[in-house]
Amino acid sequence: HDKIDGAIRAQLSKVAHTTLLGLANVPSIQLARKLVEIAPPGLSKVFYSDNGSTAVEVTLKTAFQYWRHKPDPKPEKTKFISFSNGYHGDTIGAVSLAGIDLFHDIFAPLLFETYQAYYPYCYRCRYDKTFPACRLHCLRSIEEILDRRHDQVAAIVIEPMVQGAGGMIVSTPEFLKRVRELATRYDVLLIADEVATGFGRTGTMFACEHAGVTPDLMALGKGLTGGYLPLAATLISEQIYDAFLGDYSEQKTFFHGHTYTGNPLACAAALASIELFETNDVMDTVRKKADLLAQKLRAIGELDHVGDVRQLGLMVGIELVQNKRTRDPYGWDAKIGIRTINEARERGVILRPLGNVIVLMPPFCITEEQLSTLVEVTAASIQSATARR
Ligand code: PLP
Repeated sequence: HDKIDGAIRAQLSKVAHTTLLGLANVPSIQLARKLVEIAPPGLSKVFYSDNGSTAVEVTLKTAFQYWRHKPDPKPEKTKFISFSNGYHGDTIGAVSLAGIDLFHDIFAPLLFETYQAYYPYCYRCRYDKTFPACRLHCLRSIEEILDRRHDQVAAIVIEPMVQGAGGMIVSTPEFLKRVRELATRYDVLLIADEVATGFGRTGTMFACEHAGVTPDLMALGKGLTGGYLPLAATLISEQIYDAFLGDYSEQKTFFHGHTYTGNPLACAAALASIELFETNDVMDTVRKKADLLAQKLRAIGELDHVGDVRQLGLMVGIELVQNKRTRDPYGWDAKIGIRTINEARERGVILRPLGNVIVLMPPFCITEEQLSTLVEVTAASIQSATARR
């Protein structure tokens, strides 16, 4: 976008990088102010890093340290509650939270222990395939952990509204609201990983807005710079920030910093991108395109080997199954996702699978015509790939 190009060029003519370690730079200050302005109310401090995984690591270390530094310390609060099918990045802390065995198993000896609750994946819920029952079961799984272990739990870490890499699993505002309530009731922090969902992806600026929920910490990445440059941010509440204040001798410093953290070129890109949201009413465009996409996806839902089509905003997961009636999944060795995307490539469209789930996550600038091509090619590719077995 010429506005983002221009913002980066203008910043480049001033300075390409200055350290944020012990200092700040002008775009990083301006962006921090902007992020606080648009974030769910109550998140008032910004800590920069440079990718989604590190933004999550920052949430974990901050939450851990917070319980040690607060006026009535609770140093025994060292554990995290994570979710089945969760994904938070590829660094060790983030992988420790993951609920995807394929990503996680080989590194098991390196990982710290978490308590894992169920995220509502109703299509494959082992208890009940209807949403209310599945949701209740999942909430109960969180409550059971909290009942027994809340004094050890520092925070619940959740991908609000949609689990991305786990298979584009869409939950509901009610679920998120209840998770917030449980966190408050049991005196544990709520960490929202909005790396994938933030900046309009789900049809609201942040997914937490669907539920009117403010987390205690929020990790941001991906869409922050409009897809231009690596930058991430962790937003925290004033109350958490305050726990880190004290005399030098108290050693409450948060020891965490990356060399290129808060890079001014990336911050300038992010500022320009957020400005576009405001001036061009990007959210309205996203919602209109999401509606259009939903209409077009109906035909895909009818295909023989499509078990479930999940969508929130411009995040879509299409789950392929061997048997639509029994929901019998394809085995991993069927490579059904890979075969589908190879078919799409032959038709000129680049897609990505997550196992048996085909992901559609188009850029916001996609045209109506391109959306049609995307869905038509996806449908044709699914048909070819599934017909061959
Ligand atoms: N958290 C979520 C929810 C993600 O989807 C991702 C990446 O896909 C990450 C964290 C990690 O972000 P990054 O790839 O920038 O490290």
